[in-house]
Amino acid sequence: MRLLLVEDDPTLRAQLRAALVDAGYAVDEAADGVDARHLGETEPYDAVVLDLGLPRLDGLSVLRHWRAAGRTMPVLILTARDTWHEKVAGIDAGGDDYLTKPFHVEELLARLRGLIRRAQGLASPVLQCGAITLDTRSGRVALRGEPVALTGHEYRLLAYLMHRPGSVVSRSELTEHLYAQDFDRDSNTIEVFVARLRRKLPPQAIETVRGLGYRLVAVE
Ligand code: CA
Repeated sequence: MRLLLVEDDPTLRAQLRAALVDAGYAVDEAADGVDARHLGETEPYDAVVLDLGLPRLDGLSVLRHWRAAGRTMPVLILTARDTWHEKVAGIDAGGDDYLTKPFHVEELLARLRGLIRRAQGLASPVLQCGAITLDTRSGRVALRGEPVALTGHEYRLLAYLMHRPGSVVSRSELTEHLYAQDFDRDSNTIEVFVARLRRKLPPQAIETVRGLGYRLVAVE
C-alpha cells in the first residue's frame, strides 16, 4: 500500500514517516499544499494523511480540489486543535476520518487500516483467502494456522493482493502501489517477489493471468 503523507512540521513528518514505513507502507511526502495537491492528483495512493494547516495552500482547499477532480482515495485529516468546526469542514470537503493533534501513532495506524480496508469493501482487519491468513494489525501471515516468515517486500505484495482477492492486478499497478515515488522501480522485481511468495505459500494461490497480471485465488 502506498500512502501520501502531507505535514509541514518536519519533526512530526519524519516521525510519522518512520512509523508508516515500519508498518509496511510505501510513503511519499509533501510539506506544503501545492506539492500535496499535485501528488494527490497524479499518483495512485491507497490513502492520504492530510494536515489541514499547510503553507502555500491550506489542506481543505487541497482536499476540495482532489474531490472536484474525481480523486476518491481515503483521506485521514489531521487537525491542530480540538475545534469541532474544522472537523465538520474537513468531513464536508471529502475527508473520511480525522485525528486531533496530539495523537498516538497507534491510533493513526489503526484508522488508516480501517480506511484502506473499507475502501476495498472488507469487513475485518484479518484477511483470509483460502488457507492464507493475513492480520493487518500485526503484519503476521499464516498458512493453515502456521506462521509464515515474509520479508517486507513480500508482505507488501501479498497484502496488496489480499485486499483484492479474485481481482486481476497488473504488474504496473503493483509497481505503483508497492513503491514510493523516489524508489528505483523495475517491474521485473515484482516477478521475483511473486516467485518467492509462491515458494512460501501454495504455489497455485498466486495465479498468472497471461498478459494481464496476477490474481490471488483461494487454495485450501
Ligand atoms: Ca501544519
